[in-house]
Amino acid sequence: MSKVLKCGDLMPGCNFVAEGKDVAEVMAKGAEHAKTAHGMASMPPDLAAKVQAAINDKSATSTPHSPSPLQGGERVNTARPRFASSAGFAGAT
Ligand SMILES: [Zn+2]
Repeated sequence: MSKVLKCGDLMPGCNFVAEGKDVAEVMAKGAEHAKTAHGMASMPPDLAAKVQAAINDKSATSTPHSPSPLQGGERVNTARPRFASSAGFAGAT
């Protein structure tokens, strides 16, 4: 589950969004952004806790356009393997 952090939750007016495959990655991106955009050389522990609390699952945020997995061209093979089911287990003659 990928994670997302909206900087605006912590820094009102900032529209930066950090995304990552896990919390650690989002934290790293958030820390980098805080350094470059907000002039924070290091993240104080109390802020780090707030950042962590502001990180959400990406799926929880409503995405206006979701990529459709069905692009066509990929055909699902519905043919099943045929088992010889007519031969009974309980002794044929
Ligand atoms: Zn920001």
